[in-house]
Amino acid sequence: MSDTIFSRILSGEIPSTCVYSDDEFYAFRDINPAAPTHVLLIPRKPIPKITDITEADAALIGRMFLVANKIATKEGIAEKGFRYVINCGEWGGQTVFHLHLHIIGGRPMSWPPG
Ligand code: AMP
Repeated sequence: MSDTIFSRILSGEIPSTCVYSDDEFYAFRDINPAAPTHVLLIPRKPIPKITDITEADAALIGRMFLVANKIATKEGIAEKGFRYVINCGEWGGQTVFHLHLHIIGGRPMSWPPG
């Protein structure tokens, strides 16, 4: 159905540094980190973009943030603060069309983004 870099990471075809794994989600380190901590959390379900979610995905997306919070705590960035980013579509800067949550921290974040 979808063949993206991330589906190939999920299948093990492309190597990645695992940070978290369960039957619904996988998280790994971004190959081009924007900050000292940069983890990508993806659902195993191949949803291309955040705007593609349906009512049936509501609980999955909720659980995704619970997992993300656990990862942020484990990575030691939760206390100081960090950033979640979901890029959507071309103008949103999305380059891989398998839904992913960027978990970025380890330094102060500027706002607004460029
Ligand atoms: P986005 O631009 O929101 O679609 O984010 C895609 C992210 O995937 C970028 O931050 C890339 O650095 C990252 N990325 C691309 N290929 C890989 C890979 N093989 N392993 C880890 N991260 C990757």
